[in-house]
Amino acid sequence: MTLRVVIVGGGIMGASLAWWLTRGAGAEAGVPAVTVIERDPTLARASSMLSAASIRQQYSTPQNIHLSRFGWEFLSAAPELLGVDVGLKRRGYLILATETGRATLEANTALQQAEGVATALLGPEALARQFPWLSLGDIALGALGRDEGWFDPALLHGGFRAGARARGAHWAEGTVTGIDVSAGRATGVRLQDGTRLAADVVVNAAGWQSGAVAALAGQDLPVGPDLRTVFVLSSPDTGEINATAPLTVDPGGVWFRPEGRGFIAGMEAPAPATDPWAFEPDWPQFEESVWPLLAARVPAFERLRATGAWAGHYDWNRADQNALLGPLPGIDNLFHMSGFSGHGLQQAAGVGRGLSELILTGAWQTLDLSAFAATRLAEGRRVVELNVI
Ligand SMILES: Cc1cc2nc3c(=O)[nH]c(=O)nc-3n(C[C@H](O)[C@H](O)[C@H](O)COP(=O)(O)OP(=O)(O)OC[C@H]3O[C@@H](n4cnc5c(N)ncnc54)[C@H](O)[C@@H]3O)c2cc1C
Repeated sequence: MTLRVVIVGGGIMGASLAWWLTRGAGAEAGVPAVTVIERDPTLARASSMLSAASIRQQYSTPQNIHLSRFGWEFLSAAPELLGVDVGLKRRGYLILATETGRATLEANTALQQAEGVATALLGPEALARQFPWLSLGDIALGALGRDEGWFDPALLHGGFRAGARARGAHWAEGTVTGIDVSAGRATGVRLQDGTRLAADVVVNAAGWQSGAVAALAGQDLPVGPDLRTVFVLSSPDTGEINATAPLTVDPGGVWFRPEGRGFIAGMEAPAPATDPWAFEPDWPQFEESVWPLLAARVPAFERLRATGAWAGHYDWNRADQNALLGPLPGIDNLFHMSGFSGHGLQQAAGVGRGLSELILTGAWQTLDLSAFAATRLAEGRRVVELNVI
């Protein structure tokens, strides 16, 4: 009998999983019947469309490095694999450290290099030669990665969705308001309009709402919204910076990168948003924190202006800020795909592949993502990642 898989959430994770599932992913049982339920087909509040859409390999854990490397290779091959050029910009990440952060940056870089990542450490003189627009008085070291950059999330999402649909996946508009569970198995989902869909496998790919979706089955998944503002910036006389800058991470916590003829920038929110549905950009943050840090690091940004801004939620894993994959104890056919905490877009291709194989074959296959098993929380295990940006 054909396996019926219902995916709750049609963002990048749901779309990637549908794409991999409909390719069969090594299953002897054949291609499953995949239905993706999405409450808002415009994806206006989906993190996937509100993302900075950047990809790096500069992580402090091998598992995150492996996932992003897979993501980089996938994005590079997207024209052949998806039939879509996702607009990959190969500009790298530059992570800067003061003396305080030097040892951590050195240790992270050593780990990345041991994993085969092309990250190089640059001292102040080398940084000044390569990036003469940086103010480096307080900087001890920078780590510059090669196979890193940014891309267009809508093109990647569209490629996954079109490919999955072409192989039979079905997209349905609806809000999942119930998950039926019987004898420790999820048997289907209920929609707000009263429809019931029977399922052999249910996947929770609801992004920042996946904690709420897990609760529909009585499960405690520690994932919720964490609002971040992305500022759209315009700056006169900074064409050279626009043409050469990598995504640059300042030790003060702000990051910026070129976007079109201008730049985008952001940093952690000073306080949690009170209404998760408001999606209000934090304009005071620009004047109070973002602009002062940027102008101090890049003197040419003195006349920088914020011409726009948007706000979106990280899918924040409160336990350890990393992916939570697969079932929690108690319901072994309810798979979670959640908790990416700001690095989900770049992990979508790898997570989709890994989870599709777990669903179809019962084991991790080409990508061993067992370190990210959602069961780790009950076992008291954590994935400690120092580079959550
Ligand atoms: C400002 C910002 C910057 C970011 N920058 C980066 C970056 O540079 N690099 C990177 O890799 N990642 C980045 N991320 C993180 C990345 O965007 C997310 O990790 C990723 O998009 C999560 O994808 P998702 O499909 O799980 O969630 P989403 O895209 O949020 O999709 C979940 C979908 O589920 C639907 N849904 C929810 N509940 C229900 C329900 N009950 N019934 C039906 N449908 C439901 C929602 O409508 C939504 O469309 C950033 C995120 C933000 C907000």
